[in-house]
Amino acid sequence: MRKSDHYKDMGEVFFASMRVEKTGFLEKIDKLLSTSGLAKIFGENELVGLKLHFGEKGNTSYIRPLFVKRIARFIEGKGRKPFLFDTTALYSGARSNAVDHIRTAIENGFNIGYPIIIGDGLLGNAKENVEINKKQFKQASIAQLVFSCGAVVSIAHFKCHLLTGFAGAIKNISMGCAAKEGKLKMHSTVSPYIDKKGCISCGLCVSYCPVEAISMGTVAAIDQKKCIGCGMCIAVCKEDAIKINWDIELTVFQERLAEYCYAVAHLKKGKMFYINFLMNVTPSCDCFPKSDTPIVSDIGVLAAHDPVAIDQASCDLVNNSIGIEESKLKKAFAKGEDKFKDLFPKVDWEYGLDYAERIGLGSRRYTLKEIV
Ligand code: SF4
Ligand code: SF4
Repeated sequence: MRKSDHYKDMGEVFFASMRVEKTGFLEKIDKLLSTSGLAKIFGENELVGLKLHFGEKGNTSYIRPLFVKRIARFIEGKGRKPFLFDTTALYSGARSNAVDHIRTAIENGFNIGYPIIIGDGLLGNAKENVEINKKQFKQASIAQLVFSCGAVVSIAHFKCHLLTGFAGAIKNISMGCAAKEGKLKMHSTVSPYIDKKGCISCGLCVSYCPVEAISMGTVAAIDQKKCIGCGMCIAVCKEDAIKINWDIELTVFQERLAEYCYAVAHLKKGKMFYINFLMNVTPSCDCFPKSDTPIVSDIGVLAAHDPVAIDQASCDLVNNSIGIEESKLKKAFAKGEDKFKDLFPKVDWEYGLDYAERIGLGSRRYTLKEIV
């Protein structure tokens, strides 16, 4: 694929490890941002949106606000106006509208001196469409804020995800910049069903379903007409009694995520930058109201202009780490063993990266440049 001028740095991934010798880790973050060329995406006096996940209420593994503040300060120091943003969640938890979401962000420690804005409005319907003409979608329904702001910096907490194997820059931008309508469209093929033999009728899934699609008889039952495919019930069932038709639905979901990320990158051409924090690499995403033991020790922070390269590099760094035996990992503890496959044997996590590369979102090939 020919690289345009906008993406001439594609494939270069800058890396600051957790090891510190002469300088502290916060200074290493500054150096990472200077060296990786973040400032190249800014216009004069621009409003710069820092897209992150503030963490669901009860979750404790989201990115530390101190690190986000450091990035915001760096951008402010370049004469720009940074603010923090996310969009309303599909789940019925503490982020489903802008008021609850901002309160949750503050409770989770993000009152760090920069404005917090919910990009798709009070109820998630402030949106505009981006034409993409791809396999899954002709257009994408994106949060209105993304159209108005000057540049977008993705600050992603890299972790595992039961539908995609991992979640990093691509997921942070695709699901995270979509308006509610876009989120629904991406999730619509994920239609779970109950394994009646496994269900112990605890009712947990009923209380978590955002659209009351689950009823309780002798065992739980899902009304497929009401289900929006958010996946929350699968995540909360401790008996593993809620199943997905993996082969058919998940590759479609991965394609949809890649296409939505492509839509945002296309809209903000040359005005996007990606930062992945490889800390607290938990088995589940930050939408869960709790956090499990990380699967590997903290690795560091990556920065790049290319969302595919940074996610590929993040996966490789995690897989090349030693697994934590007390975590949810079953056996892939050795360096080089596939941790995502170990956790989610039926998910082909590489498929999403492969598809993202095929539609021109970025490159799976990268050069890792370590900051010391
Ligand atoms: S959470 Fe699982 S075990 Fe509990 S009712 Fe739902 S399907 Fe059954
Ligand atoms: S049934 Fe499960 S996947 Fe469907 S909407 Fe409810 S929680 Fe989400």
